[in-house]
Amino acid sequence: MVLEKGLAGGMLREAPQIENFPGEKRITGEELAEKLKEHALQYVSVREGEEVLEVRRLPQGFEARTGRNSYQTSAVIFCTGTSRRKLGLPREEEFLGRGLSYCAICDGPLFRGKRVAVVGGGNSAVMEAIHLRELGCEVFLIHRRSELRAEEHLQRRLEGVNLKLNRVVEGILGKNSVEGLRLLNTRSGEREELPVEGVFVAVGEIPNTSLAVPLGVRLREDGYISVDAAQRTSVPGVYAAGDVTGGARQIVVACSQGAVAALSAFEDLKSPYWKREAQKPS
Ligand code: NAP
Repeated sequence: MVLEKGLAGGMLREAPQIENFPGEKRITGEELAEKLKEHALQYVSVREGEEVLEVRRLPQGFEARTGRNSYQTSAVIFCTGTSRRKLGLPREEEFLGRGLSYCAICDGPLFRGKRVAVVGGGNSAVMEAIHLRELGCEVFLIHRRSELRAEEHLQRRLEGVNLKLNRVVEGILGKNSVEGLRLLNTRSGEREELPVEGVFVAVGEIPNTSLAVPLGVRLREDGYISVDAAQRTSVPGVYAAGDVTGGARQIVVACSQGAVAALSAFEDLKSPYWKREAQKPS
């Protein structure tokens, strides 16, 4: 069974375009998420809008408690993904939905024909900048270093986007909604005000591990769930796959890890490795 707090696909649904999933030359995140869900529904139930509030260990297996039900299971696979990192500026929360967004695919259409800024230098920021330009926005891409982190092939599509490199956002300006950004040029030390009506923050992600940690699942130093090559975590019967395990955060990788995790869970339930190991002579 798949338990999903929102709509199946999660953050995948926010991707404007996907060009690196096998068999799909170009597809929107939403379309791909729907296809994956349709396919999964042939074999398992997918419960959308059912957030898991707690997973706890039972003498035999686990219990996942949601707002509506509780489910007893023999194994758990965490595919809880990541959440968008915030900039950490004082008025960031206040401007959310008032010109500030973490999702260009969701909110971009509201800014057609307007001046907007995208903050970040990774694949997400560059893809969002391209998407907003295609919607007819005048786009400024603001990055704190002199080089973007995004892949070359994406950077090549930035034509028409105004690059503001070596700039840190010091503040968001505006009375009731975003009216501009205060930027610090880290090279020259100069400050400038950039008038924009929208700001899209794409400065990376934070792994969603709050359900796994209370079970005793070990995390890596960077906060992602630690797994072995079979996608096993440090807790017997608990597996993890996809972005929450870090590494190359791409859909093809997440799907592959999910397949490995499911196979491992299946094999381990038939022949629990933790029991085999306990029986080994020391
Ligand atoms: P990311 O690759 O971690 O990039 C985050 C960007 O934000 C970096 O350029 C970073 O700057 C900047 N940043 C971080 N904290 C900041 C702060 N406080 N203020 C200003 N800038 C800050 O994150 P992402 O772009 O969201 O991508 C996440 C993962 O998804 C990556 O593995 C990415 O490859 C993957 N992804 C893949 C695709 C694709 O395959 N086409 C598309 C989207 C995302 P620095 O460069 O200085 O560190």
